[in-house]
Amino acid sequence: MKQISTEKDLSTALASSIKSKKTIGFVPTMGALHRGHISLIETCKKQCDTTIVSIFVNPTQFNDKKDFERYPRTIDNDLALLKKAGVDFVFLPNEKLIYPKPDKRKFNFGKLDQLLEGKHRPGHFNGVAQVVSRLLEMIKPDKLFLGQKDFQQVMVIRELIKQLKSPVKVVVCPTVRDDENLAMSSRNANLSDEEYDEATFIPIWLEEVKKLATRYKVSQIKARIETLIAQREIMKLDYFEICDTETLEPIKEFSETDQAVALIAVFVGKTRLIDNVLM
Ligand code: AMP
Repeated sequence: MKQISTEKDLSTALASSIKSKKTIGFVPTMGALHRGHISLIETCKKQCDTTIVSIFVNPTQFNDKKDFERYPRTIDNDLALLKKAGVDFVFLPNEKLIYPKPDKRKFNFGKLDQLLEGKHRPGHFNGVAQVVSRLLEMIKPDKLFLGQKDFQQVMVIRELIKQLKSPVKVVVCPTVRDDENLAMSSRNANLSDEEYDEATFIPIWLEEVKKLATRYKVSQIKARIETLIAQREIMKLDYFEICDTETLEPIKEFSETDQAVALIAVFVGKTRLIDNVLM
């Protein structure tokens, strides 16, 4: 596995793949790697000749500076995991390389950026679009591997790729969960034991939502989840919505859509966790 931290090394590394017409698969991450990231890498390795993983904690996508500072950083462990996973290249850019000058670009994703994460974390998706567009410009992969755990992020990046007229193909990989069914996340490392135990209610509630969907109205299910979370002392609901998978607009009746997705964001202590389930 080769570590790359300059643009020159990146083009040298990719040149040989391009010359020998090898397909390049790219997995962008913010590090603090876990089995969720590794599953993306495994899928990438199956589908592409060359696998490149980036680790960059992108400051422009954090609307809360404290959250950026608190974000776990475990580079030595990450490099060991990537080596074990058989990654060809790990790209470790510094901020100057991604943003040689402050990125002032403002993307327009319409409603997609005003709902759910977009509404609750203003500027977040603009920052995601800034970093992803830079990385795609530098790496020019054939395929981009993303996790369904960040459901709305996938939709935003698909829209970004359309706007950039980039030929890259998006591959969405299912959410990997731990033994307690909690969606794996780098942020789980910030949970105390007590907070972790509380957080394991999230997947239980989402499973319940799936069952309730056959018998209850959207408004009743929302009220049920809101009540359940209000009873938990160390949890605070940021949002819970049932939405159309095509538009991500909240629905009032299940009959409004072919496929619905339930999306949740909860603070467990200071840690904000997100999860979703297709219904
Ligand atoms: P992050 O490092 O959190 O920015 O995530 C990098 C990529 O890994 C994103 O495409 C995420 O959606 C994906 N990812 C994070 N957690 C999981 C998970 N539990 N299962 C599958 N993919 C994940």
